[in-house]
Formats: sequence, structure tokens, C-alpha cells
Amino acid sequence: PGFASLGLSSALARACTAAGYAAPSPIQLEAIPALLRGRDLLGLAPTGSGKTAAFVLPLLQRLDGDQRRPGPRHVRVLVLVPTRELAAQVGDVFRRLGATTAQRARIAVLHGGVSVNPQMMGLRGGADIVVATPGRLLDLLDRNALHLDAVQALVLDEADRLLDHGFAAERERVLAALPAKRQNLLFSATFPPEVQALADGLLRDALRVEA
Ligand code: AMP
Repeated sequence: PGFASLGLSSALARACTAAGYAAPSPIQLEAIPALLRGRDLLGLAPTGSGKTAAFVLPLLQRLDGDQRRPGPRHVRVLVLVPTRELAAQVGDVFRRLGATTAQRARIAVLHGGVSVNPQMMGLRGGADIVVATPGRLLDLLDRNALHLDAVQALVLDEADRLLDHGFAAERERVLAALPAKRQNLLFSATFPPEVQALADGLLRDALRVEA
């Protein structure tokens, strides 16, 4: 089966072909139809499984199907990642696969190690997608540079490594800034008790997929 048979638009299916994806990977086959319907997801998936496209494609389609634009400083999809490198990589996948959608999604990649002012300016008009490390996200929240009360979907990517980076202490502040009604996705390569506890607190009736 191809990408279009999973319910993805022809534009997104074409973007997959252009990216060199011949056919959906196993995790994409399971996750994409459920995510398109708005379901929560627990993905036990290492790097190399195609997990990034498994969430990027359905989230792009759901954004594209909803013509509302984000309000000033508002964010529609929030992806939290443990490191700068991963933030840049995930941002690139959103840009590449989103290049053909009807509404070009506005994507902001936010991490430390670079100055905060250009990031603040970039958020003024809002963002469809923010890919961020927790520390810089909280810094920008404290500066009132972004608002998370209109977030429709939250992704925790590499959740086991997020916890390694001290995310446990920051998580309550991030979650408190989100609306209660939203889609939640959690991906992790390993599944220690701390990740289980995070998933239990976050996910509702989640589909569990293992790559
Ligand atoms: P990830 O598991 O998200 O880190 O992706 C690992 C690599 O697989 C990336 O280089 C992707 O470009 C590639 N990839 C993702 N989906 C597919 C697919 N369906 N077919 C071939 N390659 C893919």
C-alpha cells in the first residue's frame, strides 16, 4: 500500500515520493491513519524506524485541513525534543514534507545556543508548528513571546532522552500552559517506568505502536 491509501492527501503522498520514500514503513502504516483521526499515540520507536514522518505527515494534513491561522504569538502544534540537533532535524522534515501542502505551514525551530531575539521576532505572527527544546521554550514563554493555549497537538519525541535532560522538572509548567483538549503523541526508543508514568499522565485511549 502507498501513502495515499493511508488517507494522506495526494500532495503529501507526492512529497513522500519526492523525499525518496518508496512505501510507508511499518510504524507509518499503523500510526498515520489513527493520527489522521485525531487519536493519541504511544510510539515505541527508535531512530531509523521512520517515526518522524509518521507524525509529521498526519499533523501537516490536519493543519492543512483547517484554514484558521494562528493568532499573534500563538502555536498550533508543539513538538518537544531533547536536543538542538533533533530540533533542527525534525524542523527539516516538516519543511520538506510540508512544501507541497495547500497552505504552507509556518514552522519555528527553537533551541538554546543561539540568540533569543530573532526567535521572538519570528513568533510574532504565530506559528503553525513549533519544534523546541524545553529550556528555550520556557524561556520564550516567560518572555511572553509565545502562547500555548491554542495548541491542538503535542508531540514528545525521544521522551526517554527528554527525561534525561531534566524535562521532568519543566514538564508541569509546559503542560499547565496547554489547553486540556488536544491530541497527544509520545515517542520513545526505551520504555522505563518514568516514561510509562509520563505516558499515563498524558495520553487518553492511545494507540500503542511498536517499531
Ligand atoms: P527516523 O526514524 O524518523 O529518524 O527516520 C529515519 C530515516 O528514514 C530518515 O532518513 C527518513 O528520511 C527515512 N524514512 C522515513 N520514512 C521512510 C520511508 N517510508 N521509506 C524510506 N525511508 C524513510
